[in-house]
Amino acid sequence: MNNPLAKFALKNVVAAFSARRHGNMSLSYGNTRGSLENRQRFLSDIGIDYHSLICAKQVHGKNVVYVTEADKGKGALDYDASVAGTDGFVTDKKDLPIAILTADCLSVFIYDPARPACAVLHAGWRSTEKNICAEGLRLMQEKFSSQPDELLVGFGPSIRACCCKMEDDFKSNFPFGLIKRDTGLYMDIALINTRQLVACGVKEENIFDPKICTFSENEDFFSFRKEAGDAGRIISVIMLK
Ligand SMILES: [Zn+2]
Repeated sequence: MNNPLAKFALKNVVAAFSARRHGNMSLSYGNTRGSLENRQRFLSDIGIDYHSLICAKQVHGKNVVYVTEADKGKGALDYDASVAGTDGFVTDKKDLPIAILTADCLSVFIYDPARPACAVLHAGWRSTEKNICAEGLRLMQEKFSSQPDELLVGFGPSIRACCCKMEDDFKSNFPFGLIKRDTGLYMDIALINTRQLVACGVKEENIFDPKICTFSENEDFFSFRKEAGDAGRIISVIMLK
């Protein structure tokens, strides 16, 4: 269940997200003692050298960065060395694991089997509002001439529409994805990202959504909303082999 792209029986890519049992994967949030060991253990099991990991200083924006060998290991051992000011990566380089860290926000994995190339995006509601998926796809088209209708997409665990309650006065420009219930206003972030991807030309049948809610399934996944400041972070990582 840790491979969001498992359905596609892929040969030259590895994509995975961690669960609570794998421990905190953040070097800056939650209890970080043991985070490096957690990364080492989880990543070595899926054939990734944790020293190579590229991580971001995530800012809930829509900036996505193209990374190459020169960026290898940025944020792997030290948060301060992470790539600043970005919420996503794209690459066409092999053995270059790109990662984002979440505890409720949606992670979006993108794989282009034809180039090959891949991407991982951090899509909380703020980045979703800025349409980070469109930005990731735009960069893949610019760098790799990726064709949206050939891309395979996977979602990681996130807070879902069942639990993603917004402030009563929350205003957004989304024509869809907001649900009014007796208990308040809720947001369906995965649905909005799905619509945004489809609007860019991704085929809906190529979007794999495991529909895991971090809040509802908090025993198995970290949730910032449920656990507040103590929450660890899930890692979502993708690498071309
Ligand atoms: Zn839920």
